[in-house]
Amino acid sequence: MASAWLGGCPAQVRGFAPPARARVASGGPVRVKTAREEAPPEPPRGRTSRREGKQMNNTGCVTFEKNERTILANLGGQPWKASQFTRQALRAARSDWLRLRKAVGFTGAGRWLTTELTSPKLAKSGVPSVGVTLHSSLRALAVWRQQDEATQHAIAAALDTTVDDIRSSLMQTMCPRSTSGCVGGCVTTHSEQASLGRTDVVRLVKTLFHLHRPASAFCLTGEELRKLRKANGRKCRWRVNISDDIRWELLAPGLWTFKVPGYAYTKWTPQERPGRKGLSLVYSATERHTDADITNMLRDGHRVAVVLDVRPADLPDVWKGCPVSDGNVTDDLYTHQGPCIVGLSVKGPTLAIKERMRRTGFARPA
Ligand code: SF4
Repeated sequence: MASAWLGGCPAQVRGFAPPARARVASGGPVRVKTAREEAPPEPPRGRTSRREGKQMNNTGCVTFEKNERTILANLGGQPWKASQFTRQALRAARSDWLRLRKAVGFTGAGRWLTTELTSPKLAKSGVPSVGVTLHSSLRALAVWRQQDEATQHAIAAALDTTVDDIRSSLMQTMCPRSTSGCVGGCVTTHSEQASLGRTDVVRLVKTLFHLHRPASAFCLTGEELRKLRKANGRKCRWRVNISDDIRWELLAPGLWTFKVPGYAYTKWTPQERPGRKGLSLVYSATERHTDADITNMLRDGHRVAVVLDVRPADLPDVWKGCPVSDGNVTDDLYTHQGPCIVGLSVKGPTLAIKERMRRTGFARPA
């Protein structure tokens, strides 16, 4: 309920710039009370995140990061709900999306989703699988800067905003808990697919669409999830974050009403992102985690993805006394029974990237 989101958290009201097309002020944390019927499970008591001031507490209030605040503001200050998925909204979303595509010289709607047919990673799940590929971390800003002035103005006009507003939104990372180790080895950013044709521009406009037209973006995703579920029942998967680490379950809980089992790797802590029904999360270790941090997370009942410096065939069954489930063989996180390590072998695509992952400590000795 709309009022439930705003009631009881006055800081949330203070923290927002005017919603819709306006940008969120880059001030202090914004606290929003979650709707009771769509709230994720309560986080364990007494745990806080590593970053001072960035904390999800157990009173139902959430601290959103900058890019999440931008999206929430452009949703009018409230998360997207299933009731907003109407024929009229879907028609408007398609029209918005075509307009933005046209601004960068594309004709037609193109493919909204990445699927098991276009992504070898999603194909590993063995069932129809979908997701939306955005730009990770700050990559969209780099691609934006490569666009000529006329294109930048055309994009801004298609989104009914200004070039400055767009630039400012892209200065916010899409992966709030990324580290230099993970950015340097990010598989989606450095994949061969990422450098094909105009993939960079496709990801740029999808990222901008989510930041500046989130309700329309969620309508397009919702329609695809609806069709996927209708065709496959529960035998399908939705990779909720392919190349970003936004907590979509907090911003668009309405997408879970389509009942496609969702999953994601995430670098948020379990306290910051506890997940929800219909979302299977695996927490990813970075170079900032000690081995003890990882084993402690398992002790708390979680599954933790660890990149190990071995070939896929040499992935151990046990690491630091913890059971290892092979994350190379499937992308479907529902298959890993926790608590366990989801073991991933260090990947390139280039030797230099592998070497960097070893050097930063992101890839660990087996
Ligand atoms: S958080 Fe994930 S998607 Fe983002 S840069 Fe790191 S590895 Fe890539």
